[in-house]
Amino acid sequence: MHHGNCQCKSVAYKFTGEPLTCYTCHCTDCQTSTGSAFTMSMIVNRSDLTIVSGAVAENVFLHNGTEVKRHHCKNCGSALWFSSDAAPEICALKPGTFKDTSWLKPVAHLWLRSAQPWVTLDDDAARYQTQPEIEELIELWRRSKYAWRGVNSAGY
Ligand SMILES: [Zn+2]
Ligand SMILES: [Zn+2]
Repeated sequence: MHHGNCQCKSVAYKFTGEPLTCYTCHCTDCQTSTGSAFTMSMIVNRSDLTIVSGAVAENVFLHNGTEVKRHHCKNCGSALWFSSDAAPEICALKPGTFKDTSWLKPVAHLWLRSAQPWVTLDDDAARYQTQPEIEELIELWRRSKYAWRGVNSAGY
């Protein structure tokens, strides 16, 4: 189990499942909305995520033309996860909100065509100039050495 919280700590959550995938996004929407160079997302089953305390608010967020919901702390505004009505069973958790971030490792980097030029990427993660299909990102995670429960089908 993994615990997480917003920056002001009024919202706390627990994650009891396994990630479906984890990636970074270098699109301009992510850069502008966070004021940073890229964002990190961990796709998880919504049923594995439980709010333990605090008030979570939501607003509409446009990500490369697609409308998604941004769930954030009502008090400090920290983004906690994003969801889409098109796929309500999953959400994109912001894994930097975990108490322990030492186990995080993205398997892909998205929207590299707008990445800031100084960003250096690791060689073992997949690279995409725009948005790949989510199924492809899930398969990358499944085949990666970062998938949970030790040995996977690739033999790592
Ligand atoms: Zn907060
Ligand atoms: Zn993005």
